[in-house]
Amino acid sequence: MRIIVQKFGGTSVASEENRRRVAQRIIEARESGLAPVVVISAMGRSGDPYATDTLLSLIKDYGELPKRDIDLLLSCGEIISCSVIAATLNRMNQNTVVLTGREAGIITDDHYGDARIVRIEPHKVLNHLREGSVVVVAGFQGVNDSGEVTTLGRGGSDTTACALGSALNAEVIDIFTDVEGIMTADPRIVDSARLLDRITYNEICNLAYQGAKVIHPRAVELAMQKNIPIRVRSTFTDTPGTLVCAHGEATENGHSIRCDRVITGITQMANVFQIKVETASYPDPAAAPSMIFRSLADAGISVDLINIQPEVVAFTVDSGEGPRSKAILEAQGFQVRVLPGCAKVSVVGGGMAGLPGVMASISEALREQDIAILQSADSHTTIWCLVKNEDMNRAVKALHDKFSLDK
Ligand code: ADP
Ligand code: MG
Repeated sequence: MRIIVQKFGGTSVASEENRRRVAQRIIEARESGLAPVVVISAMGRSGDPYATDTLLSLIKDYGELPKRDIDLLLSCGEIISCSVIAATLNRMNQNTVVLTGREAGIITDDHYGDARIVRIEPHKVLNHLREGSVVVVAGFQGVNDSGEVTTLGRGGSDTTACALGSALNAEVIDIFTDVEGIMTADPRIVDSARLLDRITYNEICNLAYQGAKVIHPRAVELAMQKNIPIRVRSTFTDTPGTLVCAHGEATENGHSIRCDRVITGITQMANVFQIKVETASYPDPAAAPSMIFRSLADAGISVDLINIQPEVVAFTVDSGEGPRSKAILEAQGFQVRVLPGCAKVSVVGGGMAGLPGVMASISEALREQDIAILQSADSHTTIWCLVKNEDMNRAVKALHDKFSLDK
């Protein structure tokens, strides 16, 4: 059996017209001899009746609720959209079975709201595929070993799709969305962003971890482990989209690429909070970094963009954790300076390691736009610059232009 996983995001299932388009995509796959496993997100975006954010807004004034109860509520959005897609397929004479995450055998850990998939028990999905049905699975949800419903966090339906694709040894995983594919920058920010016809797992993981929300990085990693190609493509046009596959020599099926792009793309993450701790005045300056990072770690706060110098330790945290981080460090006797409202702009590319001039171009591009770099860091695939939130979009455009990524 040749299995294909097809995942459709929120806007793809938001209207009846779009849902017909989705059904057509599924029928096309069947007609080409593939057995589709379809993963569906909740319908629409914030404000739409059954979107995840809308469900969440129903309980926002009721104080703190058990996380388990919130997950149960959130999981309803996908169950509704799946059932409506199944109805659409039935009307088009396609025999279809709808499965919740639990029924599809998606077993997760206990981390409500951001659960990880620990294994897949796919017998039910396989049985229905063997009977010749289209199997429509509710994305973004699973069940833990005690049988409680969990949700998978942001981009969770991408993760459902790739976990199923891996467990079922799918031929390909199609991520259908509202853009043509993976582009050199978010097309909502950069008009001239260019569609990439191919990209390696590593490149898209790097982009996605730095904020490109077109696909969730955890999902990419799941597909990468089994070397299953992913196609990111538009529900609404017939363009082939972007093929995500391994780096290396071309294989028989063609699902492998050489990739030596210096810069793959520019991405951004708004709303980070910069913290600078003076360590020179601390009684034991040498012990300061370990004190700082241990106390934040004990409070479950994750830090990013870390620069340690003899007299100052600088880093960022998510905006939501900013005030708490400041309070924790001040309680330890540190002098803390904070800068809320920052954004992390990232230049990502596998081929930049050791190449002189990349940082020179970045600093020139931002200087030309009068954008201050508040902090920076680099790895062999990424250079990060911290800027003010209000400068973020201009910084992304300037960097995209500087590296001529539209060409
Ligand atoms: P879905 O609901 O289909 O999962 P998402 O909103 O999660 O859709 O992801 C698609 C969005 O990702 C696009 O509308 C686009 O604005 C955004 N995006 C961010 N970075 C990129 C990029 N590099 N290439 C393409 N899209 C991007
Ligand atoms: Mg998404």
